[in-house]
Amino acid sequence: MKKESHMMSYGYNPDWSEGSVKPPIFQTSTFVFKNAAEGKRFFEVAYAKSKLKKNEQLGLIYSRLNNPNMQILEERLAVLEGSEDAAAFVSGMSAISTVMLAFLKPGDLLLISNPTYGGTHTFVNNYLKEIGVHVISFDFDHNYDDILNKLKQSGLENKLKMIYVETPANPTNTLIDLKMVNDVKKTLSKKIGGEIISVCDNTYLGPIWQNPLEFGIDLTCYSATKFLNGHSDVIAGAVMGSKDVISQVKYLRTFLGGMIAPYTAWLLTRSLETLHVRMNYQAENSIKIVDFLKTHKNILSIYYPGDENMDQRQNEIYRTQCNHGGAMVAFTVKGNEKGAFKFLDSLNLIKLAVSLGSNESLAQHPYSMTHSDVPEDVKNSIGITEGLIRLSVGIEYADDIINDLKQALDKI
Ligand SMILES: *Cc1c(COP(=O)(O)O)cnc(C)c1O
Repeated sequence: MKKESHMMSYGYNPDWSEGSVKPPIFQTSTFVFKNAAEGKRFFEVAYAKSKLKKNEQLGLIYSRLNNPNMQILEERLAVLEGSEDAAAFVSGMSAISTVMLAFLKPGDLLLISNPTYGGTHTFVNNYLKEIGVHVISFDFDHNYDDILNKLKQSGLENKLKMIYVETPANPTNTLIDLKMVNDVKKTLSKKIGGEIISVCDNTYLGPIWQNPLEFGIDLTCYSATKFLNGHSDVIAGAVMGSKDVISQVKYLRTFLGGMIAPYTAWLLTRSLETLHVRMNYQAENSIKIVDFLKTHKNILSIYYPGDENMDQRQNEIYRTQCNHGGAMVAFTVKGNEKGAFKFLDSLNLIKLAVSLGSNESLAQHPYSMTHSDVPEDVKNSIGITEGLIRLSVGIEYADDIINDLKQALDKI
């Protein structure tokens, strides 16, 4: 069966809950043990003092460790990603920071792509650096040799513990070559004789249009607030990967306490039922919108993965690792900030708001909003100009979105 067919019932048996066709919300903090020996055994496994035996399942203990809604959600997330296991979090940032703290100690080196989501950027540069983690970043146009040279020159390559990338990068849709990232990881782990964890923030295209695990990436992480939930009513996060690596992430999650709550997990499980329908429709709409934008005289440039206007190297990466350009369209309008603000203030159907991946279309101005913290010279070098608009395409009727864009563009 295809993944989408599993989303309605995988990991849940109606016999557990009075025949209820959908999982109820297990709004409980704790679970009753059948006897003391059972409680002892559950804790041995939960606190990693003992491994699960074959066919043994971790029993329900306390909702910070496990809860049926979280477990059903995690099983479905793993199906979607094609991974052995998944861990669900209370936010995307909780997922990302827990992953970083699980594998990075003071003195270790983190290699990270640039740009990344603002929260990730701030956590890495203002917190990890402060506790003594070394950080080296690279840009989308750095190739394998550039990165190896950079690591060598730093004198820190033998401290490398994690490679973290975000592709496509927010907001300009630039792609990082995942195969190259895996090559860097293989070369370095051989050279230094130690394990290196590779991580990809897959929020923009996953799990439908890009599968980093197929390219040897160890973990994918998500803001599940975005496409996975898709209804702008939940903040949540997820991490997918092998059982072994995910168990290390879950171990730390238990103590940092960033697990997803039962009601949020239930909402997200419900959203996953329509994930393929929503994302595929959003993608179809996006193609029509990109085609329209190309015809309008007030558009200066368009950034959309796989589009003929992206440079050749970017398109090569697109062809090897993406199945579709997705539903995030960036474009620059004439008139810099004044033009961009006139456009945004003239929208009727499309909401002026940050966030993305939801069923309603959203537009925002990265230069003064999501990326206002990024230094001027960095903004210029990565294409975040005053005329740039980031549009998240929803599931409204395509012509209605296009008509709204057209009347707002005409007013510039
Ligand atoms: C939104 C977002 C995040 C942060 O997720 P939250 O759910 O807001 O904590 C991380 N990465 C990307 C690419 C995002 O778009």
